[in-house]
Order: sequence, then structure tokens, then C-alpha cells
Amino acid sequence: MTDQEKNSVTPAAENTRQSEKAQKIQKINGVRGMNDLLPADAAAWAHLEHVLRDLTRAYGYEFLRTPIVEATAVFQRGIGEVTDIVEKEMYSFEDRLNGEQLTLRPEGTAAVVRSVVENNLLYEGPKRLWYTGPMFRHERPQRGRYRQFHQFGIEALGFAGPDIDAEIILMGQRLWDELGLIGVRLEINSLGQANERAEHRTALLSYFEKNHTQLDEDSQRRLLSNPLRILDSKNPVMQELIEGAPKLLDFLGAESLQHFEAVQALLKANNIPCKINPRLVRGLDYYNLTVFEWITEELGAQGTIAGGGRYDPLIERMGGKAAPACGWAMGMERVLELMKVSGSLPEPLAQCDAFVLHQGGETLTAALIVAERLRSAGIDVILFCPPDGQIASFKSQMKKADMSGATYAIIIGPDELAANEVQIKNLRTSGEQRTVSLDSVVDAIIDAIVGA
Ligand code: ATP
Ligand code: MG
Repeated sequence: MTDQEKNSVTPAAENTRQSEKAQKIQKINGVRGMNDLLPADAAAWAHLEHVLRDLTRAYGYEFLRTPIVEATAVFQRGIGEVTDIVEKEMYSFEDRLNGEQLTLRPEGTAAVVRSVVENNLLYEGPKRLWYTGPMFRHERPQRGRYRQFHQFGIEALGFAGPDIDAEIILMGQRLWDELGLIGVRLEINSLGQANERAEHRTALLSYFEKNHTQLDEDSQRRLLSNPLRILDSKNPVMQELIEGAPKLLDFLGAESLQHFEAVQALLKANNIPCKINPRLVRGLDYYNLTVFEWITEELGAQGTIAGGGRYDPLIERMGGKAAPACGWAMGMERVLELMKVSGSLPEPLAQCDAFVLHQGGETLTAALIVAERLRSAGIDVILFCPPDGQIASFKSQMKKADMSGATYAIIIGPDELAANEVQIKNLRTSGEQRTVSLDSVVDAIIDAIVGA
């Protein structure tokens, strides 16, 4: 076939070719466990983000954004080798172009500490920081558990006292109140210091070794690597064994106990109820002293909406000058889900304040100018644009105007234009309609909005 022949295919033949092509082309889906944020949910996310911004300002926390990709060593060293995340959940890969070992961040704290150390942010003293963004973990996707999910987190670095532990917990409580969440409870524990955990570990090892046959496969593996994590097991057949295990709290020295009691006293003084859960150990390696989680029964198995604690050894472990720190992180999807259950999701926002209707030609030109003038005055406007390029009847345009959630329809037809006028219809009342001059439409809309 010559080029000329190729270009001279009949419309019918072209149609057949297109539909064959359409059959062959398979659609490409998103990655399992990684979700789109669809427009229908955008208002809820924007509301949550807004509340988070206000919350962090109210407590003097500054925003820090780290990259989504870090050197794998950041998480191996920061989170610890013997943790669920590092053992089996990380998206790690080699950069083919330069051989670097990289990882999509599975959590925020290790990366924040990497940045704080690298940028010497504690040089002038302690810092209160917050972050938000996507995290990646290769887990089995299910309700409340995704492979890409979003966290909001705060980190208070360079503070040693129980006052800051209490402050970050109060922030959490204020947030749940602000978001209207129901059924959230706080559980708290102390992991003491490394030497206290070492003594407890010895007692724990001998207890579990004595009862070796009752350990499930996961726990037998953890017995050698991280026996504390056995306490975390959700396996029902292990519960009785775990109940009888030596409690870390009984191994805490005076200083650790004092810190723990001081945190509890500060919470009590602020009317924050909490339950001591001696089995709460958290999945990450870097914690000491206070650890806590906020849990709900409203979300099924994925009931932990946020968790955190003190991680005094981490900054030094990441190569910085030793400094204490604590923080927490929350799963935004789970919190939004709980808002839904609590009935506290905001109403979806209207797409615009005003919707401009026209009949093409000169009325379109006038409509475009009116729309721009309204936008310059701070009014959100959608201009009707026919999907097929054909002018639609006012009736069908009015349906679109209604669906947009706009309060006002601004109608510019040939008759209106000839008289240098527009019609303004209130779509949210009984449909009251009035005529104003083309020049005064912006003022009329502003007056109407202010007066409403
Ligand atoms: P879980 O016990 O549910 O696996 P975790 O201890 O691994 O949680 P953290 O590392 O403490 O979770 O992360 C803080 C919060 O982030 C969790 O409380 C949860 O709300 C959220 N989160 C963690 N993993 C996921 C995930 N895969 N999908 C959605 N949210 C998650
Ligand atoms: Mg997990």
C-alpha cells in the first residue's frame, strides 16, 4: 500500500479498524493495594489536612517533607532488622543506573531523623516537627491495610521530659475530638531502657523456652530474634501463654517508673483516660520508655488508628549527636474510615459558586468575560462547555448547573445580550430569578453572597 492508499481508507473501514484496535488494547489497572484518591473523596481529605494544619500550628510544630525514596540503610538501621517492616514489608530495589540500594519509605520517623541529623536541625535546640505523605508496605491488602497508605506524624526532638510525651498525646486527643471520632481509646505502656529490657528478655526467654511446645511458628522464630514481639501476637491459641509471661513493667528501675508515672499524672490532670497495656510493645525497634496506641473497635481487625512513643536512642543510632525524642504517626485512611463510621465526614463541597450558561457565538464571548470577571472577584465559576461542541438547550445546561452545586446560575442568551443584561437565578431557593445589567453582574453576585 502506498502512503496515498493508506490515507484514503473509507470512514467505514476506519471505524472497523478502530473497534478492532479497541478490542486488542487492554486497560492497565493500578497496582494492587494502591488506591486513587477520587474526586468524591477529595473534600474529606482536604478537611482532614486542614484540621491537621491547624492542630500543628496550635502546638508550634513545623512542617518537614522528606523524599519518598531513601537509602535502604535508613530503614534497616532506623527501624531495626528484626521487625515486620524490614523483614518482609519494604519495597526495596536497586537503582539500575547507579547501583544504589533504595527503598520506598514504609514510615516517617527514620527518614525524619535522617534529615534532622543531615541538616543539623537540632543545632539551635529542640525541634517540634510534623510530616504527612504516602508510605509503602508490601502487606496483604484488606480494609484499612493498603500497600500505599498515608500517614500524618509528629516528632518532638531534643526533649527528655514526660511533659512532651503528654503534649503529643494531648495533641492526639484534641485531634480525635476535632474530627468527631467516636470510640477511640488510648493504651499506654513503658518499654523502659535497654538494660531493663535485657533483664526482662532473659526472664521472657526462659519462660517461653519452658513452654516451647505452645509457641506458634512465628513466635518460635521471634524467640531467637526478638522475643518481646511474641507479646504482640494476635494468635488466639497463644493468648493464655502470653498472659502468664513476665511483665516488662516489673523490670523497670526507679527512673523509668518515675517517667511513666509522670506521663500518666499529666494525662490524668488533663482528663485523658488511658489504659495500661503491658503487652503493648509496638512493631518498631527504636522505642524506649513511653509507648502508646489509639485503638477503636469500630474498624474491625485494623483498629489501630495511630501509635507512637519515645525513641531516645534513635538519633545517635542514625549518626547524630545523642538526643532524646518522641512522636506518633496516624494512618489517614483509617481515620477517614472512622470519621465515616462516626458520621463526622464533611458534606461534599459545591464545585463552584456560580454556573454560567450561554448559547454560543457572541453570548459565549460575553459569558467568558463575565466568568473571568467573577473569578477576579474571588467567585468560583464553572462556564458551561458542551462536551460535543454543540450548543445545548438552556434546560440541559440548567441540569448541569444544578449538579455542580452552584448557588447561582447566570444566564446569557441572545435576548439578554441584545439588552445588555443577564439573568441570575438562585438554584438553592425556590428558583427566584432576576435581571441585572451586564456591567453589574459581579456586584450583584457579591451582594447576594454577602447577604445570604
Ligand atoms: P498494624 O499493627 O495495623 O500493622 P503498625 O504498627 O504496623 O500497624 P505503625 O507503623 O505504627 O503501624 O503506623 C502507624 C499507623 O499507620 C497505624 O496505626 C495505622 O493507622 C497506619 N498503618 C500502618 N500500616 C498501614 C497500612 N498498611 N495501611 C493503612 N494504614 C496503615
Ligand atoms: Mg504493620
